[in-house]
Amino acid sequence: MTARILVVDDVPANVKLLEARLMAEYFEVITAMSGPEALAICRSAQCDLVLLDVMMPEMDGFEVCRRLKADPATHHIPVIMVTALDQPQDRVKGLEAGADDFLTKPVSEIALIARVRSLVRLKLACDELRMRALTSREIGLQDPLAQATAETGRNGRILLVDDRPSSFERIAAALTVEHAVDVETDPQEAIFHAAENPYDLMMVSLGLERFDALRLCGQVRSLERTRHLPILLIAEPEEEARLLRGLEIGVNDYLVRPIDRNELLARVRTQVRKKRYNDRLRDNVQLSIEMAVTDSLTGLHNRRYMELHLGALIEQALARGKPLSVLVLDIDYFKAINDTYGHDAGDDVLREFGTRVRKSIRGIDLACRYGGEEFVIVMPETDVGIASMVAERLRRRVATDPFPIGSRGETVDVTISVGIAGLAGPEDTPASILKRADQALYRAKRDGRNRVAAAA
Ligand code: GH3
Ligand code: MG
Ligand code: MG
Repeated sequence: MTARILVVDDVPANVKLLEARLMAEYFEVITAMSGPEALAICRSAQCDLVLLDVMMPEMDGFEVCRRLKADPATHHIPVIMVTALDQPQDRVKGLEAGADDFLTKPVSEIALIARVRSLVRLKLACDELRMRALTSREIGLQDPLAQATAETGRNGRILLVDDRPSSFERIAAALTVEHAVDVETDPQEAIFHAAENPYDLMMVSLGLERFDALRLCGQVRSLERTRHLPILLIAEPEEEARLLRGLEIGVNDYLVRPIDRNELLARVRTQVRKKRYNDRLRDNVQLSIEMAVTDSLTGLHNRRYMELHLGALIEQALARGKPLSVLVLDIDYFKAINDTYGHDAGDDVLREFGTRVRKSIRGIDLACRYGGEEFVIVMPETDVGIASMVAERLRRRVATDPFPIGSRGETVDVTISVGIAGLAGPEDTPASILKRADQALYRAKRDGRNRVAAAA
């Protein structure tokens, strides 16, 4: 998925400059000339990151940022303030408004692209989670986004990895005002602590004497137990190249020495807040899974979940102008399998079919058992042509490879019919698109089964 960046500036020349640089890196770019215009674009979920000019007439960047961060619908969109002001107090003002980072005019190209890439990557990872949390809200859980948006970012548990007493003593003293801080001078021990304790943030000095700090960051990112722990690097001004490397491997934020105390507190709060936001979403998703959104026979999603989630996927596709396809799959003459081999054998076939479906789709596709021997696959960012190829491949996989039943090595030949419909426009609803796919399926059945048909 290519990320879409919103550039906001009241001076057309500035917009053009940033737009050109981002497009050269293959980002999609949209632009706004004022705060209110930017807010409207963000609310309709059309962008993945905002580059926001601070000084604009009518509504300045700080105010735009505050409003974005106060609204659960836009809270998760990263904001980089672009400013001619470069005093610590200006940065702190922006951070307190909720900005994720700063770039100073004239904007350095390397810093721009590194920061945009890193924040976009972090956001896309969170998007999936967020969308599923929205679905769980519709299922009837408490509103997880509103709760998460209200988080202050104080009282965090922080692990500070630094082997220079003159450095860690000052940082720890500053943070202790509103957080609990553990200092670790041995990076190997730090990994162990991070895996064993529920920290909200790990801060790492880039200039560790006896160990490569970036290697430590890489380990934290790759271990299952610490994958979600945010990392904030502390760097010397001359360490820019390694800092950028750090962003590439998944470091969340950084501070450059000499450290301004207020900027330190503001950045730490931001990271703690984001960590808790993501934790909440993750817990919520976990809970929603427990609430029977899974079909117990096949392990695929159930019908209820699919119907709710399909609405969100359609909305996203429409907002972004991307295609989306829906496949309805039905096992042919399934009743005969039950009648001939017994109901348990029928269940074996359903289970095996679920497994084959899972193997044929991507992580972003949504597969569900719609009922009985009927299944639905929703494929975001996929047009009907591609969806037909996927369906055809699955049809062949089913027809050419008999299904094992029972425990004595018996097999049975199975075929499926598939109907496909693509998202047609803003009037489409989960029901209308499913209906068209179902009509196509009916044609596939009527024309002889074991085939794929697409809605006209
Ligand atoms: P067609 O090719 O037209 O789709 O014919 P079909 O026999 O597959 O369709 P029909 O709708 O007549 O029969 C579906 C059968 O699936 C009837 C029902 O007993 C069976 N079935 C539904 N749910 C389950 C289940 O969970 N396990 C088993 N073993 N069978 C099921
Ligand atoms: Mg301006
Ligand atoms: Mg059938």
